Amino acid sequence: MADIYIRGGFIITVDSERRIIRDGAVAIENGKIIAVGKREELDKDFKEHSEKVIDASRKIVMPGLIDLHVHMAQAMIRGMAQYVRLIPWLKDYVWPLQGNYTKEDGKTSALLCMIEMIKSGTTTFLEVGLSGRYGVEGIAEALEKIGMRGVLGRHVMDTPGYATEENIIHSGLVETKEEGMKEVLYMYQRWHGKHGRIFVWFAPRTPGAVSVETYREIVAKAKELGIGITMHLAEVREDVEYFKKNFGMRPVEFVKWIGMVGSNVVLAHVVWVNDEEIGILAKTGTHVAHNPSCNMKLGSGLTPVAKMLRAGVNVGLGCDGGPSNDNYDMIEEMKIAALGQSLINMDPAVITAEKIIEMATVNGAKALGLEREIGSIEVGKKADIILVDYWKPHLIPMFNPITHLVYAAQGQDVDTVIIDGKVVMEHRKILTVDEEKILEEAEKRGFNVIRRAGIKPKINWPVI
Ligand SMILES: [Zn+2]
Repeated sequence: MADIYIRGGFIITVDSERRIIRDGAVAIENGKIIAVGKREELDKDFKEHSEKVIDASRKIVMPGLIDLHVHMAQAMIRGMAQYVRLIPWLKDYVWPLQGNYTKEDGKTSALLCMIEMIKSGTTTFLEVGLSGRYGVEGIAEALEKIGMRGVLGRHVMDTPGYATEENIIHSGLVETKEEGMKEVLYMYQRWHGKHGRIFVWFAPRTPGAVSVETYREIVAKAKELGIGITMHLAEVREDVEYFKKNFGMRPVEFVKWIGMVGSNVVLAHVVWVNDEEIGILAKTGTHVAHNPSCNMKLGSGLTPVAKMLRAGVNVGLGCDGGPSNDNYDMIEEMKIAALGQSLINMDPAVITAEKIIEMATVNGAKALGLEREIGSIEVGKKADIILVDYWKPHLIPMFNPITHLVYAAQGQDVDTVIIDGKVVMEHRKILTVDEEKILEEAEKRGFNVIRRAGIKPKINWPVI
């Protein structure tokens, strides 16, 4: 007897043996996976005795994808910062836009983002930059309702800068240290661990916006509460200069010096690092979130992922944000990650599709400290599972479910999404929220935000 019985298709388990089961089956009960195997063997126990039977023939069945770096508040300003490098991208576009959000805008943007993530196979995410302005409570409520698994990283800052420049954060986003710390603690008490799906982390802003003392306080508090910390680091070359000039250190030496390394730390981007720094990350068990679309679009450089993996660093994958990617499609991001490593190393064998899938599943789970619960299809794990329809011209013949998934599939091929043992999307219909209503709300609110910020979309051709 099972609540849900998935039968047929290729099961990419990403279990400890990395088994791929042809014509496989998975049974789910009380939110957990209770059986995985060949369909013909599991059918006798579950086919006639399950509440819901899902036909997965002509589908790839795999663990839900884990997006290790998401800015949910940026979904509603997609495409509004084009053709600029990181600092003007933040200063002239993203911060003024986000600095004009209301709490309802923040919630609508988060819902829009989560719908997009579910529809492209993401079941768990790490949100890396919530400010009070976006209404953190409302975003947690939206997460609870939509049924995803998410870690909400709440910003803390105490000076309004970013590395190379001072006083550049938009006034609408400036907060005191007390506001940030207080809300992290409030959110922790109210939401952390709720339903086993919602978690709260510290997400300090980058150096320049946070003093060394505050970083140390965050590190101590995170340790005390047993929660994680995520921060952007060494995203652009200017960051290296900043650390050298102000601290006489390399970026990773700096985070080591303030104590922000270890198994509860996820550093995002980590593009401009040398071999010694990669060694520190590996030795301390510090995780890296790789966001190739963003790095390429903003011309920032590209994280040496293949080298990091070889050195033993745990690297996951992220889509980053609406104005930097410009979508939240992890299947597309897997391809871009693979292509990027081949390009910078001028070696098509430097990374395999198997490694890329690990980044988007088990590595992400490990980075979030959830490796015992999610990331693979194994008995005892929580049932976060997606079905990818391969009966499509771009996926037939199905010679190789692994490379087809990374190099040929698209987010839109995701057919059904199960999170925590509940069907959240079936045949591309979201079951937990009203998608159409949220799209209408986002269309309206998005145009109001850009009007208030006084920023127009950059279209170089005449719109008549
Ligand atoms: Zn980011």
